Amino acid sequence: MAEECILCRIVAGEVHSDIVYQDEDFLAFRDISPQAPTHLLIIPKIHITSSAELIEGQQELVGRLIMIARNLAEKEEIAKRGYRLVMNCGPDGGQAVPHLHLHLIGGMRLDDRLG
Ligand code: AMP
Ligand code: ZN
Repeated sequence: MAEECILCRIVAGEVHSDIVYQDEDFLAFRDISPQAPTHLLIIPKIHITSSAELIEGQQELVGRLIMIARNLAEKEEIAKRGYRLVMNCGPDGGQAVPHLHLHLIGGMRLDDRLG
């Protein structure tokens, strides 16, 4: 756990979040500042700063992240109409929270801009 990381603190239960899914390795919860009716963050429980820090052998972790998002989209009943998966990386990518997370955003028609 990275001491100062807000998402590690959520994993540790030190900071409250509205959890919608968890298993041994992953956690998903509602974004505190939702950009759409459904806005979830799916994260690995281990601290990985961003996609730039992924290492060989973590392909399965990334695949599972996406499968969890896929399943939560079904559960939130947004799968049929579609949704957006976003993973920001670093300053130019607009990443504000340096713990790898996948946004699942949907429930309305999103505009054509990226992100
Ligand atoms: P990013 O810009 O990709 O790093 O996204 C970070 C996201 O984390 C933003 O959408 C924030 O609203 C969200 N966020 C920050 N702090 C919390 C928190 N304590 N609980 C839930 N979501 C959070
Ligand atoms: Zn962390």
